[in-house]
Amino acid sequence: MTKKKKWSQRELDYFRGQILEKRRTLLAKMGELKENTQIANESSATGDSTYAYHMADAGTDQGEREKAYYWLARENNYLRYIERSLEMIDEGTFGICQTCGDLISKERLEEVPHTSSCFTCKTNNAAKPAN
Ligand SMILES: [Zn+2]
Repeated sequence: MTKKKKWSQRELDYFRGQILEKRRTLLAKMGELKENTQIANESSATGDSTYAYHMADAGTDQGEREKAYYWLARENNYLRYIERSLEMIDEGTFGICQTCGDLISKERLEEVPHTSSCFTCKTNNAAKPAN
């Protein structure tokens, strides 16, 4: 008889706590960056003199802003993964390999909580040629 593997409630609570902490840190970082980007936007839109004053720095400002947007987009993706892994905890699919049904190692889950394949399956998949 095969017993379905699953995490205990205690372990799930532990992971949930970790993920919530990750989300909190991420949201704080994103809020800070958004605020900074906002300020940059406003300063370039206020009158000609301010604009002229900023002209010399325009190149770097632009570059910094692009970097900030790029970073935000990336963190937004990460946030979605975090939200997804919280859903997976509620659904009972969290930390379980969707390919072989094994539990995924804690180390891996701490790194990528939203993953749905164990290291072995992930490696096997990657080794297969894309069809
Ligand atoms: Zn697997």
